[in-house]
Amino acid sequence: MIYLNLLSNEIDAAVTLYPRDGYRYMEQLAKKTPGVQHYGVQVLMGIDANDATDIKKLALDATDNSKEYCRGIKIASHRGWWNRNGEIDSGLDYGGESSKIHKWLKQLPDNYIVSMHMQGDPINNSASIPMTVGMYAYKYPHLKFIMNHMGDYGQGGLSNKPRNYVTITKDGETNLFPAFRYAHSRALCKAAVEYANIQHNVILDTSVYIPNKSEVLRDCFRWAIGSDYPFCKKDYLFIDEEKKFIKDMGEEAVQKMHENVKWFFEASYQDLINMNIELNNFSDCNAKASKRVAQPA
Ligand SMILES: [Zn+2]
Repeated sequence: MIYLNLLSNEIDAAVTLYPRDGYRYMEQLAKKTPGVQHYGVQVLMGIDANDATDIKKLALDATDNSKEYCRGIKIASHRGWWNRNGEIDSGLDYGGESSKIHKWLKQLPDNYIVSMHMQGDPINNSASIPMTVGMYAYKYPHLKFIMNHMGDYGQGGLSNKPRNYVTITKDGETNLFPAFRYAHSRALCKAAVEYANIQHNVILDTSVYIPNKSEVLRDCFRWAIGSDYPFCKKDYLFIDEEKKFIKDMGEEAVQKMHENVKWFFEASYQDLINMNIELNNFSDCNAKASKRVAQPA
């Protein structure tokens, strides 16, 4: 199904997630789509409790030279199943389990992809937020990070602007949560854009269109229409999403975005660094920082 959609939507480069043990699907996809540049990304976690990934035995396809279509890994804070010393559970804590993540990232070759689901829940102990991707991205400058959902999964439309500031619950109580959730979503998306513009190795995927997103993406150099949700499940999904962004931003901006994305995945990380120095007017690394002068009291 995916291959038909790639062809009918005239997509000539694709980042595709495949199941942990499903590299053969990438080979089949590549065979049916000659001329398409494939970036296969191995989903590390299991599909359900019965398929939980044994965290100690996990082997990355990315370290196997014979698997040429594998170009990275996919992890999720709130999806997928793991077996930790016999304990089966879903999700991966990007903060508390960072040692595991570092172990995988250290194994990845230059220019490989790390795709990270962002839950974006407005709670004070979640590491599933844009800053976490920014932190891994600065520690691994030779890898390319996809910040999924532009930092906010926005479950059940919670990211949308509520009609009213003060809402009333079914029990008749005042509820200001929808406005807070909306503020939080906008804050996450704006933060996501800053990381993508300033850090050379961060790119955003839009996930499902909401007006907030196209509004802040006007100022973003690096973003792509896509998701870790199967956008290619039905052949009109991708095109429908694209139409919504074109309506808000114009055809030229969306076309420029496609060119930037394609380049992001083709370019070496050194080229990405050079581009970001230019985009942000940074001095290059050989320039001397000006001497700090003590301020008079
Ligand atoms: Zn996701």
